[in-house]
Amino acid sequence: MKMINKLSPYESGMEVIDVGEEHIRRPEVLVTGGSGLVGSMINGEAKINSSFDLRDKNVTDKLFSDLRPKNVIHCAAKVGGLGSNMNYKGEFFYDNIMINTNVIEACRKYDVKKLICFLSTCVFPDKTTYPLTSKQIHSGEPHESNYPYAYAKRMAEVQIRAYREQYGLEYISVIPTNIYGPNDNFNLDNGHVIPSLIHKCYLARENKTDLVIWGSGSPLREFIYSEDVAKLTEWALEEYNSSDPLILSTSEETSIKNIVDIIVDIMKFKGNIVWDKSKPDGQFRKPSDNSKIKKYAPFFKFTPIEDGLRKTIDWFESNYKNIRK
Ligand code: GDP
Repeated sequence: MKMINKLSPYESGMEVIDVGEEHIRRPEVLVTGGSGLVGSMINGEAKINSSFDLRDKNVTDKLFSDLRPKNVIHCAAKVGGLGSNMNYKGEFFYDNIMINTNVIEACRKYDVKKLICFLSTCVFPDKTTYPLTSKQIHSGEPHESNYPYAYAKRMAEVQIRAYREQYGLEYISVIPTNIYGPNDNFNLDNGHVIPSLIHKCYLARENKTDLVIWGSGSPLREFIYSEDVAKLTEWALEEYNSSDPLILSTSEETSIKNIVDIIVDIMKFKGNIVWDKSKPDGQFRKPSDNSKIKKYAPFFKFTPIEDGLRKTIDWFESNYKNIRK
């Protein structure tokens, strides 16, 4: 697969990232969410960004009937951290259920051979047993802080499974744990914890103020570097074909406190750290079972969290002016 990143105008006035002035037809791989955290790291002949409103069935249909991609990696979603999941519940449900329904149906209608659809560990029940396995997705209510997003993503799993059973399609879903890396949304209120904290630490260092962290610091998460997710997704495109969603995880839990320590160290922040306990901790932990990856891709080496954070912070500091924030 080739990495193509030239922007060119698309017929409808929107933009598609493609090979040049001519719009490509029948790309080997189309990536939705192509400029986002994961999509930007995936090799794809064609990538589309958020200027295509995939919530709109007509836009989605036109895109697929024009491009006729052979394979699709579907990363596009309305995403955000704990703050935005709690503040924009209606939008998180509507946008995601529409995007997924339209994209998966368009893949079927326009003969996409293989589709990889991104879910999230938010799909799992709040009260459950650990480690999380794909069998547990529908076995209880998701955490109250992100249930609209979780239910919308659960329905993508249902749609994929139903299409496999009725139409015999090679469509699969993957469940990455907490992803971080370049091209993330570094917004202070709506971003995920790592990009928000990098940005907060930067401002606290520059303005010589306290660094204020939400919650107690004790919750645990399994962080995975975006490039690792992209590589595993490209591997899955060739090698994985099962109705059982594939969990993409290091299976290594890290506390928020530990993440703060590493970020502060890399960014050379010398000021005070304040834990704002009036802010939510969210789910305490959600450890997942990565035995399938270990079994099918035993050669895969995950990026250590310190290395991934260093690369992300380097990227953030070099691109500060132009990043999403
Ligand atoms: P989650 O895994 O869906 O909960 O995603 P997040 O990336 O939003 O991580 C939330 C965890 O990080 C919670 O335990 C928060 O209390 C903690 N946290 C600490 N500071 C921040 C922050 O500035 N932004 C976010 N989103 N979370 C923070």
